[in-house]
Amino acid sequence: MTPERPEAVQMPLEFIIGCGEPLTRSIALMERACRRMQLPPEVTANLVMPQEIRVFRMPCKTLGKVVNLWGVLALHNNARGPFKGGVRISADVSLWETVELARLMTLKTAVTDTEFGGGKTGIRVDMAEMYRRFGRHPLDPDFEKIISLDAVAYYAQAMREVFASHIYVPAPDLGTGPDEMASIFNETLDPASVTGKPEGTHGWLPGRKEATGYGVAYIARRVMQEMLGRDPAGATAAIQGFGNVGSHTAIYLAQAGVKVVAITDSRGGVYDPDGLDIAALQEHALHTGTVSGFAGPQPFANDQLWGLEVDLLIPAAIGNVITGENARRVRARAVVEGANMPTSVEAIDLLDAQRVVVIPDILANAGGVVASMDEYSRSLSAAKMTRQEVFATVERSLGEAFDECRDRGRVTGECMSEAAVSLAVERVYGAMRRRRMT
Ligand code: NAD
Repeated sequence: MTPERPEAVQMPLEFIIGCGEPLTRSIALMERACRRMQLPPEVTANLVMPQEIRVFRMPCKTLGKVVNLWGVLALHNNARGPFKGGVRISADVSLWETVELARLMTLKTAVTDTEFGGGKTGIRVDMAEMYRRFGRHPLDPDFEKIISLDAVAYYAQAMREVFASHIYVPAPDLGTGPDEMASIFNETLDPASVTGKPEGTHGWLPGRKEATGYGVAYIARRVMQEMLGRDPAGATAAIQGFGNVGSHTAIYLAQAGVKVVAITDSRGGVYDPDGLDIAALQEHALHTGTVSGFAGPQPFANDQLWGLEVDLLIPAAIGNVITGENARRVRARAVVEGANMPTSVEAIDLLDAQRVVVIPDILANAGGVVASMDEYSRSLSAAKMTRQEVFATVERSLGEAFDECRDRGRVTGECMSEAAVSLAVERVYGAMRRRRMT
């Protein structure tokens, strides 16, 4: 179901492009915040719409052939600092999806008071089509790596000036990682032009890889102690996703004594009411690529997660998994969003009515971008940082944002998702006004 939109704001960009952006979760929540602030429609449009979109075609030479790849660079807002956001390589990249992800970055950096703006890159690569074109058999990680490295190397060449001038500071996202960030560094030879660089290279940051999951687990602990009145030791959690975010969240929760009773991924799941052995599960997933088939605990389907009676439900895989359809089945006391936009606006409202606390993505999973600011600063100054120092910054930034959102909600009646977006919009609007950008 599409969320309600009482007075749709006219978006000038949509007239220029000639097609309308779908009503996304961040637009719906930003429009609510702007209405509360009684901002005029043209200011709302300036806050919601990106400052710049580049749609490009790159002739990319790879494995002896030229493949033309299309992509989008969405620069949403830089009122508070350089545009910041990941480079995504996927078959279903689209203009509006890239804009939505860039907007999410603006909100995420603002709510945690990290002095970056929001941007995103999407490069459309259909790996199935690549296998056909090059006559290769599917599921060859080395082949896919060559394609993604070449795609990012060409992208870095094409956008060299944007990176070198720190207009937009890229990072890894779906389909890219430290290796691809190294090829951007190779192009600019400037360690501060990109974050998420590989270990041991100029300006890399210990703890960057774990920072998002560390932050999710930290926020989860705060929720248990301060909103659920529950000691983390012995509390229960269920997690969707056991990739970078899900696995590190599980590790740090288990370290705090939380019983992680269920974990699912794209191929299945496992359940143990006494708490899963996370270290053993990690070892299993490393060898098999999935949590499914882990000896001992019971098999478990993704769909069973939503009705599980646990203290915490942590979607840390994909977007839009908790919707108006299944929100009423949720028996958890709190949802902590590890993934980007896993809960629809309709589900946020239903869960709020059911008194289930929802901690939004822009707060809960912001540990990665907070650590990126450490990486950026350290790359500029050449001062080294330890993993403990990085984790301390994550705790401070996320902790302060958590306090501000909770306190704000107590006064305004906003749920945590609304309070976080309102706080972010206020900060971005304030910076835009001071810089006379609106
Ligand atoms: P990842 O690729 O490392 O892991 C993704 C996990 O999700 C895997 O376990 C995969 O099996 C599972 N999964 C995929 N499709 C699924 C499905 N249909 N049902 C159930 N499970 C499924 O990705 P990640 O880096 O852990 O990112 C996860 C989410 O967190 C994404 O939404 C991402 O945008 C968001 N995020 C990541 C970071 C970061 O630093 N990595 C930061 C902020 C937000």
